[in-house]
Amino acid sequence: MKEKGNISIHTENIFPVIKKFLYSDNEIFLRELVSNAVDATQKLKRLSSLGKVDGDIGDTTIEVSFDEKAKTITISDKGIGMTAEEVKKYINQIAFSGAEEFVEKFKEAKDANEIIGRFGLGFYSAFMVADTVEIQTLSYQEGAEPVRWECDGSTSFEISDGNRTQRGTDIILHINSESEEFLNQSRIQTILDKYGKFLPVPIKFGTKTTSEPDGEDEEGKPKYKSVEVDNIINNTSPAWIKAPSELKDEDYLAFYRELYPFSEDPLFWIHLNVDYPFNLTGILYFPKIKNDLDIQKNKIKLFSRQVFITDEVKDVVPEFLMLLHGVIDSPDIPLNVSRSFLQADSNVKKINNHITKKVADKLNELFKTDRKGFQEKWNDIGVFVKYGMLTDDKFAEKANDFCLLKTVDDEYFTLKEYAEKVKDIQVDKDGQIVYLYSNDAANQDSFISAAKEKGYDVLNFDSPLDNHFVSYLEQKVEKTSLKRVDSDVIDKLIKKEEDQKLALSEEESNSVKSLFEKAINKETYQVHVEPLAEDALPVTVTMDEFMRRMKDMAQTGGGM
Ligand code: ADP
Ligand code: MG
Repeated sequence: MKEKGNISIHTENIFPVIKKFLYSDNEIFLRELVSNAVDATQKLKRLSSLGKVDGDIGDTTIEVSFDEKAKTITISDKGIGMTAEEVKKYINQIAFSGAEEFVEKFKEAKDANEIIGRFGLGFYSAFMVADTVEIQTLSYQEGAEPVRWECDGSTSFEISDGNRTQRGTDIILHINSESEEFLNQSRIQTILDKYGKFLPVPIKFGTKTTSEPDGEDEEGKPKYKSVEVDNIINNTSPAWIKAPSELKDEDYLAFYRELYPFSEDPLFWIHLNVDYPFNLTGILYFPKIKNDLDIQKNKIKLFSRQVFITDEVKDVVPEFLMLLHGVIDSPDIPLNVSRSFLQADSNVKKINNHITKKVADKLNELFKTDRKGFQEKWNDIGVFVKYGMLTDDKFAEKANDFCLLKTVDDEYFTLKEYAEKVKDIQVDKDGQIVYLYSNDAANQDSFISAAKEKGYDVLNFDSPLDNHFVSYLEQKVEKTSLKRVDSDVIDKLIKKEEDQKLALSEEESNSVKSLFEKAINKETYQVHVEPLAEDALPVTVTMDEFMRRMKDMAQTGGGM
């Protein structure tokens, strides 16, 4: 069999355009070809599990190899393979169905991913590094004939009889002169590590030497020998694709170390696992933070079906969660389209909201189930929580329940608890509650002591982020202002003494109440006996209309 033909396309020659355009990011050819090999293998497994493949499918390891002399890189799989018809359909036609549009749009596109995704040019990215691309393939189908396809980067291709005797596909790249850098062991290894470290099918790249136990020497000590073993570059079942119930803390920590070999262990993590209305898995780790000016952003890796895509997760993950580490995997994130499209994409928005919600829920759960542990970690957690509250209203709403305020005595209060704690003892003459804080406890020691002597409480707000958080609290917590402990307001605060409150015993106040009730019409008026500020009366008689008039006259809060 031999057939020559032309790839149907309206432009003269698309390859120079592809090459030139994609040049800056040309290493992704390997990601694309290896993913195709993985897809072909996964398809075969699926067909096999449906009983559509005869016999056992055997080993399906994908192999990447190179030959420096012949200047070739080969990606070889034992997947479904292709018949001649399929080669024509999938390799010749599909990629070029959008060719016209491609030529229109390529000028607007900002990066290679954009082109590849939108126009199904995954396979054709091979031409970024190769003059000639050769396919040797044999379909899994019974009675299939091996097929060879070759294209030299012009629009003409050639299909002829192939030489493959085993099911699967070889993609052989004849590397062009500008791309010889890729004919290099460590270069290929690095690219495979970057994009393929967690692909679901084993990928072999050469062999490596390891040591194996080899009996004992004369003194009875264990001996080792060097052995050559396959160099499998990937972990085919990374933690994030497993069910949370299958995993222990140790597994999460081990996976963290696999992702960031030189980092300190994280504080805790959140396993994301959603199938509806979008598909999303992943593990987000909360790192320990030494100094909030020195936070490493952009450590989250984005995957699509276990293929690494990018560590630019800006549009997928809410800004404040960029401080987290870990992985997110979603086939529903349109990875290959432009930034602006990504921002407008409704799935991305949903994913973004979902992640925010999950993180808030997890923090809430930690707080509720182990407040002590939560407080101990607050120095680290607080940075996320405060940053989150400052930048994300939805998160702030939830975080109100578990955001902690820390005092100079290392006591922790929720916002509600703290308001309750100081509402009676730190009030200024306008009735505003005043929170006192120190931003430098060591140097403000005398002021702190003075405030404490007066019975006031002092918060510790000493991180750079706290400057913003102070103004945030002032805006969000009603009738509250925050003042530094060394400001002059302290002396002007009104402090309600405990003994003033107990001006009347319960018995006394009951008899005062019934006395007043006898004197006035109980149906219309209500009598309250309660401790009030120093110069106010301990008895109030209120009535709706009365209240309204009183309010008009002065802001007395309903007392008389
Ligand atoms: P995509 O992977 O997005 O479909 P590609 O341009 O990467 O686009 O590949 C086009 C098609 O060629 C694939 O969908 C598949 O049908 C076929 N193909 C590519 N590589 C292989 C392979 N190694 N084995 C079998 N089929 C393949
Ligand atoms: Mg592909």
